Amino acid sequence: MFAIFRPWNIGKIFGIPIRVDASWILIFLLLTYQLAFIIFPIELGIRIRRGVPWELLALAVLASLLLFASVLAHEMAHALMARGRGVQVLGITLFIFGGVAQIADEPDSPQTEFLIAIVGPLISFVISIFAAGVWIWLQALSTLDVFSQTPFQFTWVYAAVIAFYLAQANLVLALFNLLPGFPLDGGRVLRAALWALFQNQRRATFWGMLSGRVLAGLLVALGVFLIVSREYGGAWLFLMAWFLWRASGEAYHALLARELLSRVRVQEIMRAPLPRISEALSLREVADAFSLWLHSPALAIDLNGSAVGLVGIAQVKQIARAKWETTRVRQAMVPLQTEMSVTLNDDALRALKILTDREMDEVAVMDDGQVLGVIGRGELARYLHAHGE
Ligand SMILES: [Zn+2]
Repeated sequence: MFAIFRPWNIGKIFGIPIRVDASWILIFLLLTYQLAFIIFPIELGIRIRRGVPWELLALAVLASLLLFASVLAHEMAHALMARGRGVQVLGITLFIFGGVAQIADEPDSPQTEFLIAIVGPLISFVISIFAAGVWIWLQALSTLDVFSQTPFQFTWVYAAVIAFYLAQANLVLALFNLLPGFPLDGGRVLRAALWALFQNQRRATFWGMLSGRVLAGLLVALGVFLIVSREYGGAWLFLMAWFLWRASGEAYHALLARELLSRVRVQEIMRAPLPRISEALSLREVADAFSLWLHSPALAIDLNGSAVGLVGIAQVKQIARAKWETTRVRQAMVPLQTEMSVTLNDDALRALKILTDREMDEVAVMDDGQVLGVIGRGELARYLHAHGE
């Protein structure tokens, strides 16, 4: 939803994929610069005369990485709570304004929504209090003159600066996320409350969207005020407001779309019949003979005449042109699997879930082991477009 570029996968924690959007690198560099050259020198009472303050830069990188870990812990709390409540988690993406835990479904009840939303800020508060505790403890030890006889005579000051910074940053993280504008955590808590009150998720989400837009408006007003007062950092608020405005609308429209798709059956919008090609053809032959077909996937047929896979332009494009002569359809196709297919009477929402979960372009429509058609993002989008979404 927020990704500007395709995010990088950096690994998994508790089985949850972690991705970093390129915009996050930008904020990491800005933050490190600001800490090393502005904030830490002030807090430590150091005046930078010339060149690069290497020690402060190392300290700033460490502080930025710890902030990164704090944001990750916040999102991880959302993700683990979602998983614990039976809501599937697709992954966590870190981007310019922090992170987002992507869940596959809407929460099934206001209680679930509330719990998933509240644990994030709660963890940020806990980290903030812990860091503040470390800071107070270091101050107390220093007052008792504990460090003067040890090798930690100076390093404790650095540790204290980092602890103080993390206490502050996590407090801001918790408070900002608790602002009542959907889809921020506070807005989700608000939506959960309205959902419990109205007993109607769509109405609650509509008011949630409005809360997000009101907050976006307030952020713009605050930004204008700051800029008029010559605080040019206020420009950040415009970008933030824009993200919030967009995200709140997207969340509402995604809900409407899911409602529409749950009311239409697969057979009403699937694409059928499909072109059939032999799985033994080379991709070169496919490209020459079926160039007109390329935008619609075809069924790959084996020697017995049974369908064994789907092959479309996406699969052909994955293979380098130079290898088209020697690559057979069977090597490039997506093999048919019953658990990754839908039936004629499934609702279209089920097709969307499979497409999203498996990151596929098309899902086969099967009945009694026979492939009757396909349903892809194009069919779903056309249906939604024709019905006002
Ligand atoms: Zn959160």
